[in-house]
Amino acid sequence: MKKFFLLILFLLIGLVAVLLINTLRLKSKQLVITEIPSPKISNDALENFKKAIRIKTVSYGDSIPLDTAKFLEFHRFLESTYPLVHEKLQREKVKGYSLLYKWEGKDVRPNPIILMAHMDVVPIEPGTESLWSVGPFEGVIKNDTIWGRGATDDKMNLIAIMEAIENLLKENFVPERTIYLAFGHDEEIGGKGAIAIAKLLETRNIKADLVLDEGGIITMDKVPGITQPVALIGTSEKGYLSLQLSVALNGGHSSMPEPETAIDILINAIVRLRANPFEADFSQSTKDFIAFIGPEQPFFQKIVFANQWLFKNTIVGIYEQSAAGNAMVRTTIAPTVINAGVKDNVIPTLANATINFRLLPGDTQESVTDHVTSVISDPRVKISKLSFGNDPSAVTPVNGFGFKTVEAATKKTFGHVIVAPFLMIGATDSRHFGGVSDQIIKFSPMNDPIGFHGINERISVKGYQDGIWFFEQLIRSIE
Ligand SMILES: [Zn+2]
Repeated sequence: MKKFFLLILFLLIGLVAVLLINTLRLKSKQLVITEIPSPKISNDALENFKKAIRIKTVSYGDSIPLDTAKFLEFHRFLESTYPLVHEKLQREKVKGYSLLYKWEGKDVRPNPIILMAHMDVVPIEPGTESLWSVGPFEGVIKNDTIWGRGATDDKMNLIAIMEAIENLLKENFVPERTIYLAFGHDEEIGGKGAIAIAKLLETRNIKADLVLDEGGIITMDKVPGITQPVALIGTSEKGYLSLQLSVALNGGHSSMPEPETAIDILINAIVRLRANPFEADFSQSTKDFIAFIGPEQPFFQKIVFANQWLFKNTIVGIYEQSAAGNAMVRTTIAPTVINAGVKDNVIPTLANATINFRLLPGDTQESVTDHVTSVISDPRVKISKLSFGNDPSAVTPVNGFGFKTVEAATKKTFGHVIVAPFLMIGATDSRHFGGVSDQIIKFSPMNDPIGFHGINERISVKGYQDGIWFFEQLIRSIE
């Protein structure tokens, strides 16, 4: 008996030793770079951003056609506001309204880099106009904050890129290697503009060492255990798929219902689907996130991160507690539309629902459709794919030129932030650029922007100032 306890004791001591050694070996991955604070923003730069917000470049979706005049107005606004950009860079219009600029570098041999942003914005949800503190397209500054639709998504990036390059051109700066600017006009509704730009670059055999598009931001208090701001630098993007489930069955008078109606069958299918979620897993970007965040944790949390062989399920459990966290570790299932019936005393002959899936890297549209078919397992439920979809993106390595360049510019601009790679849950135009680059980064250099796609969208003047400075420093640092 005594021997048995001694054995247990030795095992425990061994376990604690392993946990501690792993924890002590967990070294910070944060670059040590001195911050160069952003210079005070000019009045012109503020006026330019306000003007950009006032041009209603709205993507409504299939129901309302694009107001093409607004996009042409936006092009003219860029031409007149950034004269040096339009003198020194070549510009071409793609698919009518998307823009591709080429800024030739001193050396044209190395692979170029591509900076992306989109011109379009989402509409204002009808009925919410009065909830805005200022008119959504007024373009005003109040409380040191720039307000309006597009202030964060994504005119801030586009205007910051333009301001940065115009500033650099004023001092006759020429980049070391060629830089392209790719501005889509319909990102919010699928990105046909970006698809066309990517195809065009592919036909010209252009391979980029970095594609930088909108994406993660700098967050405060969002990462448990970390008190500093965290710059979330997207290194991959979830896939997108919508499936329609339809059931067609004889309807009839509601006074004599059959044991099962089209609605019953459809609802049961949805319930089965929701009861059988996809398995949780860490994609490579999430593994990288943990590798960058783990060493910055307080000691006891660090033990958990340093010993994933033992605590992986604990970490998964923490993720699963919130909807946003859960979306990071699995392919999600969201019923978004349901349609059936026209009158209270008629059993409908047709019932259908739309289910939206966001695919974790590792899943494909095919594997998800297979899972859905086998879980529902009812031939009366027809499953078909709705409009566009895409597989998850490839994962950008954190030790390559692309990530390293963005990481350094982030540290230089924002100083005390913790940089962490992460998996983007939302979709961006850069997902179409897989054939152009294997180093695609999704990051918006914004400090705590507010109101993405929502009410009172806004960003602080300081946030905008830092955004311009980020792009200036990034372009200067490219070798
Ligand atoms: Zn966007």
